[in-house]
Amino acid sequence: MEPKTIKRIGVLTSGGDAPGMNAAIRATVRAGFYYELEMYGIYRGYEGMINDEIKKLDSKNITHILERGGTFLKSARSAEFRTQEGRKKAYDNLVKHGIDALVVIGGDGSLTGAHLFYKEFGIPAIGLPGTIDNDLSGTDSTIGFDTACNTAIQAIDKIRDTATSHDRLFFVEVMGRDAGFIAINTGIGSAAAATLIPEKKMPIERLIERLKARTKAKKQSNIVIVAEGGKSGGAAEIAKKVKKQLPYYDIKVTILGHLQRGGSPSSFDRVLASKLGVAAIEGLLQGKYDVMAGVINHKVVYTPIAKAIVGDKEVDEDDFRVAKILST
Ligand code: ATP
Repeated sequence: MEPKTIKRIGVLTSGGDAPGMNAAIRATVRAGFYYELEMYGIYRGYEGMINDEIKKLDSKNITHILERGGTFLKSARSAEFRTQEGRKKAYDNLVKHGIDALVVIGGDGSLTGAHLFYKEFGIPAIGLPGTIDNDLSGTDSTIGFDTACNTAIQAIDKIRDTATSHDRLFFVEVMGRDAGFIAINTGIGSAAAATLIPEKKMPIERLIERLKARTKAKKQSNIVIVAEGGKSGGAAEIAKKVKKQLPYYDIKVTILGHLQRGGSPSSFDRVLASKLGVAAIEGLLQGKYDVMAGVINHKVVYTPIAKAIVGDKEVDEDDFRVAKILST
């Protein structure tokens, strides 16, 4: 597409927050200044676009934010943006501020919103994958995924100390919604006894067999990682079923929950977010609209948003095999 003249770009974060969102905002804004553009922060995601929470940014706004978790622009979920009237209000506010392009940092829902908005109003938009879940196609890793895995692994290291001291069996639930990426990585990285992910159903009998075999082999501790939204149920539900069949086990359940979203981004996420922030601005200037910038095999790639959000990214079979081999 022939690039439109772009002078003012609005940037927003939307959906669940993820570590590295600040780094992505900073890189986007810095790259904007480098190319002599005016940069605007849209606070509270699409909700702020509808309510006109839009402010011009200067370099002071983005000082010392690279290393901070969360998003200084705040994030929100907006029911009103799902309606055409809501999106029209948002469009009118962009026109009022003379904003002629958008960078949307968020998960599949947020990118769906950007795609619809582009189709309806023709505002050039580029998405950046900002979610801990890693469930977007068009990028090897989403911004925040690596940090979330590190956080989960550090927490499980601590749980292992108590599991070993008391011969306990722990069921640890990690985030990821319908995707098992955090679970499988955490399982491999923390030497889990088993990893239960939504993509693969593990019958309870097989889990019991594995736990019995590990007891026989005199394994010092047993930690089972359970992805939220798994087909076999959450950690509490599975623990209950196992307790029924192995009543002599001292079983505990830990749900890591929102602590996986917070914290300073890892080196990997900082670099990824920085590359993608620059890619967003350069993509817009080159006329790449309605796409998501991602990194595949260390190279920046642009994927149509409609393709990135289809939800066909799958846990690598090899990762699953490695987790299985190392847990027996
Ligand atoms: P995460 O993966 O971390 O949950 P997300 O971006 O997928 O992040 P959602 O709550 O699904 O989070 O979406 C964020 C916002 O994007 C929604 O609150 C809504 O404003 C907008 N959005 C999502 N889906 C649509 C849609 N189909 N049409 C218009 N807007 C949408």
